Amino acid sequence: MPGFKLAIDGPAGSGKSTISSLIAKKMGWTHIDTGAMYRAVTLQAIEQGIDLNDESAYSFLETSHIHYDLDKIFINDRDVTEDIRSDAVTKNVSLVSSFPYVRKRLVSLQKKAAEEGNIVMDGRDIGTVVLPHADLKIFLTANVEERAKRRLKENLKKGKQSEMEKVIEDIATRDQKDTTRKESPLRIAEDAIILDTTHLTIEEVVSKIIELTDKKENKHGV
Ligand code: C5P
Repeated sequence: MPGFKLAIDGPAGSGKSTISSLIAKKMGWTHIDTGAMYRAVTLQAIEQGIDLNDESAYSFLETSHIHYDLDKIFINDRDVTEDIRSDAVTKNVSLVSSFPYVRKRLVSLQKKAAEEGNIVMDGRDIGTVVLPHADLKIFLTANVEERAKRRLKENLKKGKQSEMEKVIEDIATRDQKDTTRKESPLRIAEDAIILDTTHLTIEEVVSKIIELTDKKENKHGV
């Protein structure tokens, strides 16, 4: 596994994707947002009209090509970066990602994508399942109100109005499902460094993680 592997996990709205993308740009590394991949599967399942509760119906994954590249996500070469943020996808993604079959397929794609080069990968099970030997594991947290505020701002930027109460409820429900599911639940890897970002700016978190990465690189000479 040549190259530095940086695993960033955390709950919904903890800023993982934004932070990982900025780190990748600053370091000239490759970023892979695994949440976007689970969302892409969910979008495809909804569009195909399958019974979302039927694990065997996800066999369409045998022939679909899901690919994350340069902050964009593709299903069979169709750019679905915007479509995966719909309310319907957000509402159903925790159900879809709870199926062992779906996880197995995506984890195998993720492991493969991380094989070569310097990688920042963010998600829920990167430090525990996808890259258990990552060079550095970060677990981002922030209180639910702060996470909801960030989501509201993000939505506003995209021209979407949303209610604080509703966003808090969505985040809390997703946290609950993601931490209690049987297959690879969201949990903190034993060797992860926990960063509470509630009172930190994005830039502060990015600098802190780059500092930790530099320290590790110097230590291991990666
Ligand atoms: O990161 P994001 O919030 O976009 O992820 C959407 C959903 O995908 C999560 O709520 C979780 O259910 C699922 N997910 C997962 N494992 C990952 C990344 C995301 O189960 N590695």
